[in-house]
Amino acid sequence: MKRLLVALILCASVALGFAQSPVLVSKPVRPIPAVEHIVIISIDGLRPDRALIANMPTLRTMLRDGAYTFWAKTTAVSITLPSHTSMITGVIPRKHGIEWNVDLPLSQPVYPKVPTLMEMAGKAGYVTAMIAGKDKFEFLNKPGTITHVYISPKATGTNDEVATEAEKIIAADRPAVTFVHFPDVDVAGHAKGWGSREQLAAIEKTDTHLARIFAALDAAGIRGSTVVLLTADHGGAGLTHGADDPRSRHIPWIIVGPGVRKNFDLTQIEALEVRTEDTCATACWLLGLPQMPYFDGHPVLTAFDPVQ
Ligand SMILES: [Zn+2]
Repeated sequence: MKRLLVALILCASVALGFAQSPVLVSKPVRPIPAVEHIVIISIDGLRPDRALIANMPTLRTMLRDGAYTFWAKTTAVSITLPSHTSMITGVIPRKHGIEWNVDLPLSQPVYPKVPTLMEMAGKAGYVTAMIAGKDKFEFLNKPGTITHVYISPKATGTNDEVATEAEKIIAADRPAVTFVHFPDVDVAGHAKGWGSREQLAAIEKTDTHLARIFAALDAAGIRGSTVVLLTADHGGAGLTHGADDPRSRHIPWIIVGPGVRKNFDLTQIEALEVRTEDTCATACWLLGLPQMPYFDGHPVLTAFDPVQ
């Protein structure tokens, strides 16, 4: 009887111990083990046809080495904050709740109603980073959810500032997930117009910032284990963007890295329409994170060689 009691006490304390210890998360199993890092780069306001007209050697190398479509679609609310939130949460604006594009004069900060890719990855034990060129991105930085954060203190920062901070973070900690936002093309669009010569110059200059990210991956020794996904939040026409205008809604979607099909135009698959929510879903798939039941996006599996 006494022995039984001891056994019961032991059982109870073991059970209690488990209850008190942190939730044990099993390590995610990645479908392409060679992919250890993901960098999502958003060139704010990059309309696909302008990217094709521009002299962008780095982007063209990505096309040669990767899978792509210039007919991907952003959210119907094709403005910066709702679109970027959908890109990194995998859901449409009605679900994440960020349907405005300005700093709100609220006493309490507002964050998306669903976790960001960085938050989900962080919970699974990955090191994460966000480097953004506009101060309004603060709303994606729920305290404690991203390992390394740089958000420009200005309403509109510069690509140069973003590239410099991204270089530092990649060199220092080689994050598994890095989200990079380049603002200059959007700034040139609002000042001089989408399709203007001035914006074209900004697009071409942005290619050099893109090259700096690849160089940073090289220098950190992780280029060969990184998937880079280049996209945008929206295009534009005249001095603006928004509403349900096709010139605002089409975005480039270019992916390159281990396991990605080379020189593969995704429009060969007639039924496939890549949407900005697919960016988060694809990153989750690569990281071995679950496809959340509430996701609107799907992993773009046709961009990859069949997984063995
Ligand atoms: Zn804009």
